[in-house]
Amino acid sequence: MFQKILIANRGEIACRVAATARKLGIKTVAVYSDADAQAKHVQVCDEAVHIGGSAPKDSYLRWERILQAAQDTGAQAVHPGYGFLSENEDFAKACAAAGLVFIGPPASAIQAMGLKAASKQLMEQAGVPLVPGYHGADQDPALLQREADHMGYPVLIKASAGGGGKGMRIVKKTADFAEALASCKREAINSFGDDAVLVEKYVQRPRHIEIQVFGDTHGNCVYLFERDCSVQRRHQKVLEEAPAPGMTEALRQQMGEAAVAAAKAVNYVGAGTVEFIVEQTGYDSPESMKFFFMEMNTRLQVEHPVTEAITGLDLVEWQLRVASGEPLPLRQDQLRIQGHAIEARICAENPDNNFLPATGTLSVYRKPACSSFEIPNTSHTGLSVRIDDGVREGDSISPFYDSMVAKLIVHGDTREQALARLDEALAQTRIVGLTTNVQFLRRVIQTDSFATAKLDTALIQREDKALFGQEPLGLALTAAAVVASTLQREAALTGHDPFSRRDGWRAYGMATRRFGFVFHGQAQTALLTYGHDGTTQFAIDAMVDAPLPQPVFGALTWRAEGDQLAIAFAGQQARVQVFMHVEGGDDVAHVFAPQGATRITVIDALAHAGEVQEAGGRLTAPMPGKVVSFSVNVGDKVKAGQPLAVMEAMKMEHTMAAPADGEVLELLYAPGDQVAEGAELLKLKLD
Ligand code: ADP
Ligand code: ADP
Ligand code: MG
Repeated sequence: MFQKILIANRGEIACRVAATARKLGIKTVAVYSDADAQAKHVQVCDEAVHIGGSAPKDSYLRWERILQAAQDTGAQAVHPGYGFLSENEDFAKACAAAGLVFIGPPASAIQAMGLKAASKQLMEQAGVPLVPGYHGADQDPALLQREADHMGYPVLIKASAGGGGKGMRIVKKTADFAEALASCKREAINSFGDDAVLVEKYVQRPRHIEIQVFGDTHGNCVYLFERDCSVQRRHQKVLEEAPAPGMTEALRQQMGEAAVAAAKAVNYVGAGTVEFIVEQTGYDSPESMKFFFMEMNTRLQVEHPVTEAITGLDLVEWQLRVASGEPLPLRQDQLRIQGHAIEARICAENPDNNFLPATGTLSVYRKPACSSFEIPNTSHTGLSVRIDDGVREGDSISPFYDSMVAKLIVHGDTREQALARLDEALAQTRIVGLTTNVQFLRRVIQTDSFATAKLDTALIQREDKALFGQEPLGLALTAAAVVASTLQREAALTGHDPFSRRDGWRAYGMATRRFGFVFHGQAQTALLTYGHDGTTQFAIDAMVDAPLPQPVFGALTWRAEGDQLAIAFAGQQARVQVFMHVEGGDDVAHVFAPQGATRITVIDALAHAGEVQEAGGRLTAPMPGKVVSFSVNVGDKVKAGQPLAVMEAMKMEHTMAAPADGEVLELLYAPGDQVAEGAELLKLKLD
């Protein structure tokens, strides 16, 4: 076994590899770009070498630099992770030339599987079923069109060098073919520097089912069963699970053996994935499922943890053992599936805006109780939730790299149990500071299609009404949560118990406080009234077209439970957590509750302090704080809106203005005095 390896990657996969290396007593060397100088993967490795600028071409793709770093630090092998250099046969060769072990397949296998068209020709010879289509070298547009017409529409045009869901066009009729071909070729040359394409029959109700394979240098090759990755957006995976729902023992064996045949055809060594597209006539007829080879990914896959969860194996450990020359730890007949696992990819992106990637800082990043990089149910923790990530609270998601923030992996005895655990874990995942797909993922797994495993790659489109533009909490609960948390925070800051404090001024009469909100683009106002009986009444006036059909009012109660608040309002109850975050100069409250999360802009109540007073000629403190100054004296005539006093509360100064024209009768406090919420600061005689 190696003593030291270099990890030629970043983010979660670099951290993932480092975790297994540490477990095996192998030292690790990280490499990092300018943007990643403080990154988690640098922190978790034993040594780190700076390799250049933030753009991948200036750092993570500069293999001379990476090889130099490996030699300088005395690393014996290089783990490429996924993406970047992982499927670059020249890099694999360069490692060997530099006397380093490339932890991956032989360069020849990478090359053989690198282009989709050439790999399909190879698979044809190996007897692996292929999607009907054309994958020849002749790229004459007229020939490609004839082939498409011949196989019948819809067809899929694919860039042979493509990856990551790029360079694909679905064509529904012959008249659209020429235009789609031209645009596919433009994207292919731009993204991959190679505009060769293949044309495939577009499979009906397609499911993406892939097989994890593993080979060693002793001629052994096994399959570690399947993963279903049918839930996709833009031909990219969103959720992955194992085993595939509806899979039969017979089909699993056929697909497994076809995958092993594919791997053996290229003398495969290490971890690899053979991706199949599966045709199904209905959702409940596994016997109708027909599988066809799509491509082979010659590396560790993003979704490898679901295979780890159902087999109890550490695939990175297998990679390291195989690369150091050991035989595979287990034979095919020793491999078993246990339970069900699902992975959700948490990405910085906006599902409601066509999944546009987002950047920003993880101001809040709270995870459910989980293990990290340990296989669920097999680790000493006994936890069934695992999170693989390469970021910490406070870190940024930069525009330079992948938008994936974390992978959440759950395991259960059954699919239903795994699904319930995933829902709960997503509900407990709290991210503030950048837009993510966390709430979207929850909605996807709650759809009937996903819950009952009616899977195909069009699931997200089919369920679009339930998935996009949703508001899980509604205005009443959201506003109530923000008000309750504001009052709770104020009480904590001043050390006052809101209930004992209220006794002091209740005799003066009703105190009210107004809150302004902007919710889904609509201005909303809410009024809080402290009743004589010690209750807090809360009311929201609905505006025209607002999410509420009519005004809502009632008692608002809340109680702290750890870092959450148990609130009740207008017949709704929830345990909520509210985080305030400044966005574009606005104070935005992010409200998390078991039923979902939402955001609401809070208009500073104190900025409108003048408006909150009743017309009784009293100016009262809208929140607990300290009197800083009075800008008027007894006997002064004042105009409505004129500043009368300045208070300091929550580390900020707030100016209070006259509610109406009048004359100052009495100042009831002196600068420096602490006052309770609702305390009367001065008396006015109104005109
Ligand atoms: P998987 O196939 O393992 O599920 P993805 O297709 O999402 O993973 O890709 C894994 C990683 O590799 C991502 O970071 C993606 O951006 C990157 N990637 C995939 N294919 C290519 C490619 N052809 N060129 C560059 N990066 C790629
Ligand atoms: P990439 O290299 O980008 O991963 P793939 O060939 O693996 O490209 O295809 C990506 C996705 O596109 C698949 O997971 C599947 O959802 C869809 N797809 C690919 N080929 C077909 C096909 N012939 N019919 C239907 N869908 C397909
Ligand atoms: Mg693929």
